Amino acid sequence: APTDPTTRHVAVLAFPFGTHAAPLLTLVRDLSAAAPDAVFSFFSTSRSNKSLFSSSSSSSEEEENSKVVPYDIGDGTRDGSAAAPTIETVDAFLNAVTGNFERGLVEAEKVVGVKIGCLVSDAFFWFAGEMAGERRIPWVPLWTSGPRSLLSHFYTDHIRRRFEDPEHNKEDQTLNFLPGFSSFRVTDLPLGIIIPPGKSESPFDIMLHKMAQTLPKANAVVINSFHQIDSQISTHLKTQFHKFLNLGPFTLTNTKPNNEYDPNNCLEWLSRQNPRSVVYISFGSLVVPHADKVAILVEALKESGFSFLWSYRGENNTTLFEETLNGKLVSWAPQVEVLKHPSVGAFVTHCGWNSILESIVGGVPMICCPFFGDQMMNMRTIEDVWGIGVGVEGVASKHDFLKALRSVLVEEEGKGMRERIGVMKKLAYEAVIVDDNVVDGGSSRRDFNDLMEIITKG
Ligand code: UDP
Repeated sequence: APTDPTTRHVAVLAFPFGTHAAPLLTLVRDLSAAAPDAVFSFFSTSRSNKSLFSSSSSSSEEEENSKVVPYDIGDGTRDGSAAAPTIETVDAFLNAVTGNFERGLVEAEKVVGVKIGCLVSDAFFWFAGEMAGERRIPWVPLWTSGPRSLLSHFYTDHIRRRFEDPEHNKEDQTLNFLPGFSSFRVTDLPLGIIIPPGKSESPFDIMLHKMAQTLPKANAVVINSFHQIDSQISTHLKTQFHKFLNLGPFTLTNTKPNNEYDPNNCLEWLSRQNPRSVVYISFGSLVVPHADKVAILVEALKESGFSFLWSYRGENNTTLFEETLNGKLVSWAPQVEVLKHPSVGAFVTHCGWNSILESIVGGVPMICCPFFGDQMMNMRTIEDVWGIGVGVEGVASKHDFLKALRSVLVEEEGKGMRERIGVMKKLAYEAVIVDDNVVDGGSSRRDFNDLMEIITKG
């Protein structure tokens, strides 16, 4: 263990559910590459750490030399055996989390022999701001979704006052009192902002609410995004926080190769398909769509004749897919590479933030099937603000899916979407340019350098 007293020691607190810890680790690895003297102690549950640190893209020698060191903390169950995340397992984790992190920090300080000088955390962990405050060190929270959902959480109290005010005109369900939200409605808001009458705030809702109140105290709020993706929202957030830094898209800044693990030979299969002919389908790491919805989508695919690649989580229902001629069903796909593949023409997605950024980087228009959390708001943004996809909401029929597939893959509308997403793709690449003639390169590079100042000097 390094004992040089001048070494910088940064503690990183990950949220172990959904796709939260992976982008945080990507950021930390980028920081570590830029600050080779610093040690990063990375805290997550053993299940989460196992899947993150056993990535095939790192040799064991590399891991050994790495200054990013994983620490396992309890997941809130007695034997650390929480299976798939449910509301109960997430609540159990949250109940135990502050004590677990506190003990972890003390242990890491002993191991490294250097006091922790900076705390980087998932933005959900508002209490990390208090832990940093007690230690008089900087706190840098990472928001792992988009800027628009962040802004709506930030205005939670404001939004609640408005819609809970008896004087409020109940017909007016628009969010036009927020900057850049004139086409949004209260039903588009992420969960936890409006508490339905008769219900009380869940522990998760309380966490999000406290987060909204605590983020302005952070030394910098950072996000896996780029300024130009929604410059009005990003500019507004810059006025609300000490610093608001756009550092992404992480799939482009990544100092390690993206996950190219392809056990099902998806890329080879794609290379045998025609350009822009394949529908890629994935609902992320948490959502398991209802069997009825799966059946309807399968019917629509059959009737449309489009071939598809489906990263499938759900019941093992092979009879459903048997007759479909040109489809490939896999349990895992190298999504970043899939979306960059010229054979892929449309992405049926649950609208998770990582998936959206990856689709933009690939230049693939989306068919949006939101389920919960921030996904409704992401869908509305894709459809109405950016015009790079279509929504298939709620109880969708075969006809709805067919219409969406045709509009993206066949009709003139789809051409417009591809043009617009092509422009965004270009902006994403420009944001991460490293130009030897310009010291700080694109906007995300400049923001990264800004963050480095805080991480290394505090
Ligand atoms: N992913 C993947 N292969 C799969 C399914 C998912 O690589 O077969 C990755 C995808 O590239 C993305 C993440 O899992 O980075 C899903 O993140 P997102 O934010 O879209 O959804 P969440 O998992 O948080 O619901």
